[in-house]
Amino acid sequence: QEVTLAILKPSVTSSPKSVQKILEKLDADENFNILAARKTEISASQAARFYAEHEGKFFYPRLQAYVRSGPVIALALQGDGVIANWRKLIGPTKVTKTKYLDPGTLRHDFGVSDTRNSFHGSDALQSAQSELSILFPDLRFD
Ligand code: ATP
Repeated sequence: QEVTLAILKPSVTSSPKSVQKILEKLDADENFNILAARKTEISASQAARFYAEHEGKFFYPRLQAYVRSGPVIALALQGDGVIANWRKLIGPTKVTKTKYLDPGTLRHDFGVSDTRNSFHGSDALQSAQSELSILFPDLRFD
């Protein structure tokens, strides 16, 4: 079965109540099987590897600062179509749009801004594998 990397970013890990709500929601949803979970601080080199594709973009420096501004909770989620299902649940990248268009998505409910959008989800099988290896270097999910 497919595996994806989900990240709860610092703007949501700072609220234990929000984290609890999100984990309860995942636990109750049969589309998501939590294979592994860890709370960690992302190092500068992990952040650089993780967001290499965005290097040079205007939001890159603030994206780096944001993901390192506090702990993140990384989850390895398994399920049929879990990559798409998790991205559907979190909603569009840009919270400023999400606030109007996608009530009920996690970014609508817990996102703060386009950079501080509170969640990450891998977008394809290959990126899921490489991102899982950055956040869970000691585990294999294939
Ligand atoms: P993620 O990779 O975190 O799941 P995504 O795949 O939905 O997000 P990407 O285009 O890969 O979106 O952008 C990575 C991250 O960079 C976003 O989650 C967001 O924090 C930040 N970001 C992307 N676009 C913008 C933007 N236009 N303005 C500010 N921040 C942005």
